[in-house]
Amino acid sequence: MAVHESVVDAIGGTPLFRLSRLGAGLGAPVYAKAEFLNIGGSVKDRAALSMVLAAERDGLLRPGGTIIEATSGNTGIGLTIVGRQRGYRVIAGVSDRSAAEKSDILRAYGAEVVTAPTALPREHPEHLFNVVRRLADEIPGGWLANQYDNPANPDAHVRTTGPELWEQTGGRITHFVAGVGTGGTITGTGAFLKQVSAGAVTVIGADPEASSYGGGDGSPYFVESIGHFLHPGTAEDLWPESYRPDVVDGFERIPDRESLLTARRLAREEGLLGGPSSGTAVAAALRVARRLGPEDLVVVLLPDSGRSYLSKVFSDDWMRQWGFLEEPRSADDTEPTVRTVLEAAPGRLGRLPAVPADASLGDALALLREVPGGVAPVVLPRRERPFGVSATEVLGSLAAPAVAAALTGGRAAPDGPVTALLGPALPTVGIGHPLSAAREALGADGEAALVLLDGRAAALVHRTELGAP
Ligand code: PMP
Repeated sequence: MAVHESVVDAIGGTPLFRLSRLGAGLGAPVYAKAEFLNIGGSVKDRAALSMVLAAERDGLLRPGGTIIEATSGNTGIGLTIVGRQRGYRVIAGVSDRSAAEKSDILRAYGAEVVTAPTALPREHPEHLFNVVRRLADEIPGGWLANQYDNPANPDAHVRTTGPELWEQTGGRITHFVAGVGTGGTITGTGAFLKQVSAGAVTVIGADPEASSYGGGDGSPYFVESIGHFLHPGTAEDLWPESYRPDVVDGFERIPDRESLLTARRLAREEGLLGGPSSGTAVAAALRVARRLGPEDLVVVLLPDSGRSYLSKVFSDDWMRQWGFLEEPRSADDTEPTVRTVLEAAPGRLGRLPAVPADASLGDALALLREVPGGVAPVVLPRRERPFGVSATEVLGSLAAPAVAAALTGGRAAPDGPVTALLGPALPTVGIGHPLSAAREALGADGEAALVLLDGRAAALVHRTELGAP
């Protein structure tokens, strides 16, 4: 058994596990690299250590200095552990979309946490990236780790993750599958494996279906920490320098439901509790292995632990609320669901009446008059929506009577903006909710509810259809 003088010395050296149940019957064996067994609980410990050592070497980080980073949590944990052990103050800027448990754990390790939105255009001064950059400029001795563009991030994987996989598989690895966040993992590991195998190893990116890395439209998705999201107001789409697209041979684009359900299966069937991005990576690896033969060997990287997501992917209630889970709550639960009601009326599912936030009140009123109940959600404008409206893009609602009254009363003009009369967000129900739960969500006087399917607003369901008085 190893004895370490510091936790920092224990970073890396994680085991590989055969996915014997999930991988049963596939062409090639699949092995998972359990990065959640790192001392800070994720693959990012490797990048954190590498970036801190490089900054010290380059004179960017000196005694008494402060480490600052925008982080979904895991890089912050790694930087906090390494930073505190080496005597630095650490400030982590966390996205307001990130799981709450992640901030709690950062504070537990001794970081100061600053929260800021990422659901803003990159150019916006309050975007998380701009908030942390300001802090680094203002704090004397402040150093922004900047994992997105720091070469020491991918380099960590050239020096550790890649060589470990080559050694652990005795040079038999033929396919490497990983998600792409900053791109450090796939770029560094992939580049090493290609170099050492003289180009024989194939590198596959596991990407959320809507992410723009793999060819999606960049609209919101539900797997944290991987993929590339593009706010509709962002002028220039910058990809991180830590990501080198030429290292990636191809992408498997995984719908959110497949990612989340695969993470749940990974825990139940293999005893490996990974986070949602592990679900995406394993789903991709299973697809790849299905096409291969017994002479191939697939390795998939599990970036972090599912313990940080117990209230999301591992909560049946959360999964049902967002329309990712439809199976009955128990074996004797035979109550019809919202899906039953919608499927009874052809063409309802996937056809959501919605008012774009940049529409005029006059156009909006014409649209609302066509909608039963006269109420519809107002959504962020986007040119095309191949995946439908993400629930996180819904700004509020607009009701025909309110618009008509404002126009006739002269309080608004037909060419005025709909945002002037924006009403509260409609209640939401998961498509797998039983009707009684949907009625409860409507309350005493709600006219309609937004039906969520795979985290997307897929339809409106009206009070009368749910049997509400
Ligand atoms: N999964 C999780 C949970 C992560 O925290 C990260 C890092 N953002 C990744 C995947 C992606 O890793 P990388 O940044 O090296 O691409």
